[in-house]
Amino acid sequence: MKKFVFIIWNIIISLNYAQDIVYVQSICNELASREYAGRGYTSFPNSKDIGIHKAEKRIIQEIQKIGAYDLKKYITKSNHFKKRISFENLNFTNKINPSELSINTNNILKSNISINDKPLLLGIDYLPDATCPPIDFSGELEYYDSLHYINQEKKIIIQLEKKLMHSASPIQEDFALIHIHQKSLSSKEKKIFCKIKIDAKVEKIFSDNIYAFIPGTQYPDSFIVFSAHYDHLGNIDTTYFPGANDNASGVAVLLDLLRYFKTHPHRYSVAFYFFTGEEIGLVGSQYYVEHPLFDLKRIKCLINLDLMGGGSEGIMVVNGKIFEKDFQKLETINKEKNFNIPIKSRGKAQNSDHYWFTERGIKSFFIYTLGDITAYHDTQDVPQNLKFNNYEKIFRLIIEWTNNF
Ligand SMILES: [Zn+2]
Repeated sequence: MKKFVFIIWNIIISLNYAQDIVYVQSICNELASREYAGRGYTSFPNSKDIGIHKAEKRIIQEIQKIGAYDLKKYITKSNHFKKRISFENLNFTNKINPSELSINTNNILKSNISINDKPLLLGIDYLPDATCPPIDFSGELEYYDSLHYINQEKKIIIQLEKKLMHSASPIQEDFALIHIHQKSLSSKEKKIFCKIKIDAKVEKIFSDNIYAFIPGTQYPDSFIVFSAHYDHLGNIDTTYFPGANDNASGVAVLLDLLRYFKTHPHRYSVAFYFFTGEEIGLVGSQYYVEHPLFDLKRIKCLINLDLMGGGSEGIMVVNGKIFEKDFQKLETINKEKNFNIPIKSRGKAQNSDHYWFTERGIKSFFIYTLGDITAYHDTQDVPQNLKFNNYEKIFRLIIEWTNNF
């Protein structure tokens, strides 16, 4: 009988976790779908829906469904807040900036290129650099070296790449840099004939960070913060960058953690920051440390999640080599609970939103998964690639870790 109960219990537990993965996958499928246009600052032709705004609305809707508080609204309605929770030590910023964050972005709206009269496929054969100015050119480019063709007078550079990767830029350069896949252009010709038509303009787009939180049971004025950026590289014309691993996956895991802490509140308040503008230079998180909702010192620890869809080769913990004691705790839990996830650590890196918090002296980590996924900043970063290997274990490891803060 005992054995039977044990088996049933295990099935229930595994069903629960299976459900978590199903939830996380479904959020990734949705946020990385065409409907969200790559969660960037433009919309598809003949549409007014800007991808990042759609994603923001959807995440807020999910937070409300889960039943978490909007931290910004909660703080501004401070009387209501104080009645419920004592925040004696929490020096909320007196003036909470209600205005949205404005982001400058060079939006590439249209792009057509042919070389020696052969049209190239956007995202597969080539990508204009994120800094590309508008250009309407028909003429020759000359061999410069084994990786470049140029037209000095018209300021056009073609660069051959092994792998095409897009990025985001707040500015335009005065020269046009175009990345072409090695498979689509050999470097043997002395001259190539190109037709290049690119429409691009720098625009100012308003976009907000999203802040949710679950009040702590014992120390509500101290916070554990989870963060993940929800922006990605958007679209160029009808081509879009799905950003499934980067970072629909991190957003989905954050929402899953939010669901967990809603039903299992921590002794500290747990906040969930969904940052905008990461791809354009960690703009949303920088804005936050410059306009914090409360004294930054009240953050016990920040854990940033990005690229969470892999995992067969474990996880990387950025700042593990900076905050060694806490990193050791993570390793001990991993052993003691038999999760046995391969865990690597690194020093400081300006590669995601934890960075500004580290710079302000706040204990912060950036966790990303290793293995499984090679797509990065390209049109192949699709939800079908996401494996979420070891997801249950990584999820539980993070929860157990926060119990030790
Ligand atoms: Zn990215």
